[in-house]
Amino acid sequence: MSMTSADPIANLAMLIRCPSVTPAEGGALTALAAMLAPLGFTVERMTAREPGMPDIENLYARIGTGGPHLMFAGHTDVVPVGNEAAWTHAPFGAEVAGGEMFGRGAVDMKGGIACFVAAVARQIAKNGPPKGSLSFLITGDEEGPAVNGTIKLLQWAAERGERWDACLVGEPTNPDQLGDMIKIGRRGSVSGTITVHGVQGHAAYPHLADNAVRGVIALTDALMHPPFDAGTENFQPSNLEVTTIDVGNPATNVVPAQAIARFNIRFNDSWTAETVMAEIVRRLDAAARDERLRPGRPPLRYDIAWAERPSHVFLTRNDRLIASLSGAVEAVTGRAPKLSTTGGTSDARFIKDYCPVVEFGLVGQTMHMVDERVAIADLETLTVIYETFLQRWFGDARA
Ligand SMILES: [Zn+2]
Repeated sequence: MSMTSADPIANLAMLIRCPSVTPAEGGALTALAAMLAPLGFTVERMTAREPGMPDIENLYARIGTGGPHLMFAGHTDVVPVGNEAAWTHAPFGAEVAGGEMFGRGAVDMKGGIACFVAAVARQIAKNGPPKGSLSFLITGDEEGPAVNGTIKLLQWAAERGERWDACLVGEPTNPDQLGDMIKIGRRGSVSGTITVHGVQGHAAYPHLADNAVRGVIALTDALMHPPFDAGTENFQPSNLEVTTIDVGNPATNVVPAQAIARFNIRFNDSWTAETVMAEIVRRLDAAARDERLRPGRPPLRYDIAWAERPSHVFLTRNDRLIASLSGAVEAVTGRAPKLSTTGGTSDARFIKDYCPVVEFGLVGQTMHMVDERVAIADLETLTVIYETFLQRWFGDARA
């Protein structure tokens, strides 16, 4: 077997040196394939295409033919470096200084991939191939539009008969220290744009006009209050933010005819995307009839346009998966990880339609920042956690 792939630090250095800013493959999937093939994986590359969008390269690799089947999912694409001059060390250099490795993707999430590869290599060296099957499902389109990535790779694999019993996503889930947090679900997310139609006129003759600003204030107020819920056992309260209100009126003596507001709601498991959208429309319709800001007026006219593809809320309830992972984290770090559903969306929202999915990776503090970096010690610790998880999951799965 390749000695290199058992070393997460060497693996990560190889991956960081591939400038794989979305949508560029940058050599990262080729480097990963070169780590996995010598371990016995069958590695396939799948290019996803969509009109008007750049082609995206993805990778699927599997070892074993029988069950149970565990998937490791992640992405090799990274966000842009930002102000390159502000970096202490070159963003694609993988330089080590002060016990840390610097580079774009160090924690989000080439580091997670590097550690999982190392864990698998060590397990195969010690115990032979897994008693079942193990797959890597790695996309190059997580940080971008996420259209030609995990969603299509899952479809492609499922059409070829691939079935999975569980999935671990290696995103950086720990806020401060390795062992803080496992993600066992995610809130849903829906965005929309409201356009309020009024009547333009003279500011001194408002009775002849219908000010769209009054309308948009009434509608956005109704979205922000009262709270949608108080939270649930596993989730924070749902929260809606109005992200912009645009009128674009340059005159002080003109009543504007149109106002546009955008919003985003992160919702918990007391809602579905459909019910939360219905609640938003109910609130808007009630506010449109409210005469408080528009006394004596007929109901205001507005349109709502929903952003494409809402993210659905999910909560993973799979004892074997959660217990083997959280047990592994505790055995290695001595700390019981919090089982959390906080934070933004991830590709787990697509995977949950195929199998139970949890997320655990590095400490996320520097993700997407200038000087993204990872503690060398964390790479070794995460590798041991992943190795322990593999032993426990396949062990328990056999029992
Ligand atoms: Zn990521």
